[in-house]
Amino acid sequence: MARLAWLALLLLPWLANAAGLQVEGARLWAAPDNTRVVFDVSGPVEHRLFTLKNPDRLVVDLSDASIGPAVRKTFTGAGLVKDLRSGPRNKHDLRLVLDLKGPVKPKSFVLKPSAQYGHRLVIDLADASKKTTPTPKKTEAASAPSKLRDLVIAIDAGHGGEDPGARGKRGTREKDVVLAMARRLARLVEKEPGMQPVLIRDGDYYVGLRKRMEKARESRADLFISIHADAFRDRSVNGASVYAVSRRGASSEMARWLAARENAADLVGGVSLDDKDDLLAEVLLDLAQTATLEASNEVAADVLSQMKRVGQVHKRTVQHAGFVVLKSPDIPSVLVETAFISNPAEEKRLRSARHQQQVAQAIMNGVRKYFAANPPPGTRIASVAPRQHVIRRGDTLSHIAKRYGVTMASLRRHNHLRDEDNLLVGTVLTIPANGG
Ligand SMILES: [Zn+2]
Repeated sequence: MARLAWLALLLLPWLANAAGLQVEGARLWAAPDNTRVVFDVSGPVEHRLFTLKNPDRLVVDLSDASIGPAVRKTFTGAGLVKDLRSGPRNKHDLRLVLDLKGPVKPKSFVLKPSAQYGHRLVIDLADASKKTTPTPKKTEAASAPSKLRDLVIAIDAGHGGEDPGARGKRGTREKDVVLAMARRLARLVEKEPGMQPVLIRDGDYYVGLRKRMEKARESRADLFISIHADAFRDRSVNGASVYAVSRRGASSEMARWLAARENAADLVGGVSLDDKDDLLAEVLLDLAQTATLEASNEVAADVLSQMKRVGQVHKRTVQHAGFVVLKSPDIPSVLVETAFISNPAEEKRLRSARHQQQVAQAIMNGVRKYFAANPPPGTRIASVAPRQHVIRRGDTLSHIAKRYGVTMASLRRHNHLRDEDNLLVGTVLTIPANGG
């Protein structure tokens, strides 16, 4: 009896801890302007957080909780976080302290168990020392029309950080292979005359889907390419697919943009929608969006035809879906599912540098083909690329010349035209380079 009581006493602290919450793991993902810390916890968590100054710290209090010593040992600071400390509080509670490199704006939320993870407490730290620079207005570009600009290609590696994406049988993670391909594509774009790449994600961290679109808009992207690797329960399924946004996905997005008029203003070329009635606003936005959808479909088709040369394609035509990242109303956007990571042969290929390069090259070829045929005015590419115009009913030489910013004389010269009689509907005219 006495012995049992003694044993119970000995076990008591352990029992108390076991009954409470355990912090079982901690991970950190550092993005350029924010850092995410994720704690794996043994159950639903109640927490409170606040920041302290001199030096900058973030304190997270968890009630009725404890932390294993291994968690702190395996944790390494990065980004905005220098280190993790912890200590007991009020006997039962736990205080976690993140030592910071500077002031932060913290945000926290808890996640319920998923297929990959158990309960999680997520803490997002935004860098509070950096002032957000307002996006320059489009009018600035308009004030210097003589300067030709480079095309900006936004390259979006799917997933990242806490979100590994799909996983192959051998453990290959989608987030890693798509980042490798995105970086290869960026290097190809960099080498392309008249084009500049922007990597939406350039490291192992997560970027929110709307944030991805925002980043593309901030960098004034002419095209947005999201790179993924599919998974399916049937491991024999293989091949690449290329997606553009569906009409339905696009129209639900339009409702969203209409609701936020101030954001929508420069989607229609700087015309403010604030003072327009709903119907007119809708028509203006719809026009912009229809053009973007058409462009997206064209780019997608050009990329798909190049992907067919690299290997199997899963679907032979451009697919449509309501992917959020494809919904920018003013930036043509495509999503490339490069292969099925769930297929063992394709998983192996996705890991190979040679195949990654081939995929990047195929996407590059598709992009080049699209912009050669559709060079946006004011870009360096537009000034060198030969353009074509298919004559439609009602076209006149002076209209065509005006539209492409060339002289009627040079149009005649390049197309061996003597007079207007040659303007037969369906005839393809070569549009000379600007000033040529
Ligand atoms: Zn994916």
